[in-house]
Amino acid sequence: MSDESTTARLIEEWTTGLGRESGAAKLLPANWNEKCPGCGKELEEWRCADCVKKYGPHLYKAMCDPFDYAIGLKNGIVIRTVGECVEICGEWVKINGLDEGTTLPFACPRGIQILLSEIAWVADAPHGS
Ligand SMILES: [Zn+2]
Repeated sequence: MSDESTTARLIEEWTTGLGRESGAAKLLPANWNEKCPGCGKELEEWRCADCVKKYGPHLYKAMCDPFDYAIGLKNGIVIRTVGECVEICGEWVKINGLDEGTTLPFACPRGIQILLSEIAWVADAPHGS
């Protein structure tokens, strides 16, 4: 179990590089630093600490930085998405584009929605960057 200071440190470390000062900023949605993609509240800083804690730093980053992510489900299926942000809708996460490395039996060109509760892990840049 981690205490609050450990949690705060991990949020800071795991989201380093996200933000308007980073090189990735030009890829981010125009409104990303004004409204949180998780809860919709107006942001006073570039990330919403509550939602980073709720969704985890990598999934939160995937919500606002269209980079390269792998998402592992509890049933062993792996979903890889590159170049598009994931979207949160209640208990669901919508993944808009599936890329090489996805282990679903279908191409799912319109994306896929999965239950947040079925996500076992999320990796940012699974092959490195
Ligand atoms: Zn939020």
